[in-house]
Amino acid sequence: MIEPGAIIGIVGGGQLGRMLSIAAAQLGYKCHIFDPHEHPVAADVAAHFTRAAFDDVEALQRFGEHCAVVTYEFENLPVASLSVLGAKLRPGTRSLKVAQDRAEEKAFIEASGAQVAPWRSVVSLADVQAAVEALGCPLVLKTRRYGYDGKGQAWVRSPEEAASAWKAIGAQPAVAEAGIRFVAEFSIILVRGSDGTAIRFDAPENEHEGGILRRSTVPASAAVQAQAEAAAAMAVGIAEALDHVGVLTVEFFASADGPIVNEIAPRVHNSGHWSIEGAATSQFEQHIRACVGLPLGSTRLRAPQVTMQNLIGDDVLAWRELVSEKGAAVHLYGKGTPRPGRKMGHVTRLHD
Ligand code: ATP
Ligand code: MG
Repeated sequence: MIEPGAIIGIVGGGQLGRMLSIAAAQLGYKCHIFDPHEHPVAADVAAHFTRAAFDDVEALQRFGEHCAVVTYEFENLPVASLSVLGAKLRPGTRSLKVAQDRAEEKAFIEASGAQVAPWRSVVSLADVQAAVEALGCPLVLKTRRYGYDGKGQAWVRSPEEAASAWKAIGAQPAVAEAGIRFVAEFSIILVRGSDGTAIRFDAPENEHEGGILRRSTVPASAAVQAQAEAAAAMAVGIAEALDHVGVLTVEFFASADGPIVNEIAPRVHNSGHWSIEGAATSQFEQHIRACVGLPLGSTRLRAPQVTMQNLIGDDVLAWRELVSEKGAAVHLYGKGTPRPGRKMGHVTRLHD
């Protein structure tokens, strides 16, 4: 067990690193942020900050020596560079490697026994056309690497759109994935300790607009709740296959044929932000607890219903009204000027 007072390293200094730092500070730990940007928002609330590129092995080595344990807030990191952190890295490089490549991720999920949308790996327009032939339309092209918030994706609604979609994603290695007619979307947020015990939060139901998460609600609708247990079993299978330590989020489609895995995130997730006020122990604190080897906390709900609304782009300009709303928990990430599609903050509400 790493005791309070120790330094926890966090690779990546965005809002997830920021909320992890706040949770760590509450337990008496100090955080050290590693990020290439000049003013990462996590550094505002952390004890230490190293500004260096993610592939700067020397800087990573020094960072590792300064920290008792190191975690990460996003998965698009160079695995070879981060491996200099050795056993200090939690979750380990396997979780990182699998989650950062959509083709590897899908193959891994299938091998763990869970269902994903019918898919093909594509490296050329001819491959895309063959995928359209095999999977039908609509299908979605997703770049194998570096996608988030719906970026690096293009829909093919008819065979004629294959070429324009291939061009739209930059004609790079991708997966072609059948469009799923889902009833709802939800996620399983589980936390696995270093001893292998895994617990999970109530599954939030997630609404996306334009590929970006808009809203999460707990408890989910009856249709989702009916699939949550089966989905949780799949998530545990994935976590065990990864030997994952910390929070693991698995995004699902609730389909007529049961839960289908969309993707995994080896980290705390936007669809778990409601847990800061809505659960006995937040996803951020649970992740810190798992990383330092403390016992995991309770995931019990604190209200009959909890909703989390993202503040995307100009939504954040309504902050004056939001902070005047009694009972609304407003979180602003300190990012400065809003840009379209940028996650600027979120609001959580507990309902009777
Ligand atoms: P994020 O980082 O927000 O999780 P992302 O860029 O990784 O997003 P995905 O999760 O793959 O993107 O897709 C974003 C959203 O697009 C999904 O939540 C879903 O609403 C829609 N979508 C993606 N793939 C499919 C599919 N095969 N069928 C139907 N809808 C899909
Ligand atoms: Mg997603």
